[in-house]
Amino acid sequence: MRRFDYYAPGSLSEALSILQERGNGCRLLAGGTDLLVQMREAGLHASCLVSLRRLAELRSIDFDEGTGLRIGAGTDMATIEAHPVVHERYRALFEAASLIGSVQTRNMATIGGNICNAAPSADSAPPLIALDAVAEIESPGGRRELAVGDLFTGPGATALGPNEILVALRLPVPPPHAGSVYQRHTPRQEMDIAVVGVGVALTLRPDGQIIQEVRVGLGAVAPTPIRAREAEDALRGQSPSEELFARAAELAVAASRPISDVRGSAAFRQELVRVMTRRCLGIALERARAS
Ligand SMILES: Cc1cc2nc3c(=O)[nH]c(=O)nc-3n(C[C@H](O)[C@H](O)[C@H](O)COP(=O)(O)OP(=O)(O)OC[C@H]3O[C@@H](n4cnc5c(N)ncnc54)[C@H](O)[C@@H]3O)c2cc1C
Repeated sequence: MRRFDYYAPGSLSEALSILQERGNGCRLLAGGTDLLVQMREAGLHASCLVSLRRLAELRSIDFDEGTGLRIGAGTDMATIEAHPVVHERYRALFEAASLIGSVQTRNMATIGGNICNAAPSADSAPPLIALDAVAEIESPGGRRELAVGDLFTGPGATALGPNEILVALRLPVPPPHAGSVYQRHTPRQEMDIAVVGVGVALTLRPDGQIIQEVRVGLGAVAPTPIRAREAEDALRGQSPSEELFARAAELAVAASRPISDVRGSAAFRQELVRVMTRRCLGIALERARAS
């Protein structure tokens, strides 16, 4: 590794000032499970690292029945996985957090790092998109918000400017009769990255017969995590059935633009989108009925 300057600010404002002063070449360091690997093995050079680990304001999970869930960007996956509200009411996010890497990885890997690293396969992205998460972003000029689905601009690229820090992710309170799920396919059971990941959040009308709202997030099938909007449109206002879910799954396939690589061909990925979207819609429906 090449030499770099290291800062460990004790407050968000201090971190923002360092970013502004040092300019390009400065990188934020959260858990380091992506960044340090890229610096050691992928030739990434940063002239300075600004650690976020001492920023207590980035490491919190709060839930309020009015405003919903707010997860600090520096919260690690193990903490998210262990949170009872995440487990009970944001099941898709729980499922993603609990399958990322190993126990050791989850103790270090943060949700902000997973999003800002912007891998098309990032496991937290499809559930956050499905659960309608909003990113809170801070810069020396103030705070702005962006839907998580709009944050990704390309493989490894986000809409964040060089002086911006992702501070938190906010998820609305799931309405009654709502269910969500995240599943991924990997060649190995653990310690592998998604060949395809599917996150679904589905809400039924109070009579339990009609789909009121649904969101479908897909990972590893395009240059960024994506939302299958045509599939959602086909489902909204309809009575759930096998045929409807099969039609929506075809629309999700049409929305995906997968590549062929060592983990699988484009055709294999499309078949996975077809099968997994149907399966996830079925699971989300069951959960919505049981809630
Ligand atoms: C063994 C192993 C297994 C893994 N398994 C998985 C897996 O199953 N699924 C998966 O999705 N990923 C996996 N990963 C990748 C990685 O662990 C995750 O993406 C993790 O969540 C990254 O978080 P981090 O805190 O370590 O980020 P870091 O490595 O610290 O940072 C990643 C990037 O995000 C930027 N960044 C971090 N925080 C912020 C912020 N608050 N604001 C702005 N920019 C920020 C950094 O500057 C850097 O560019 C694995 C990695 C390893 C080493």
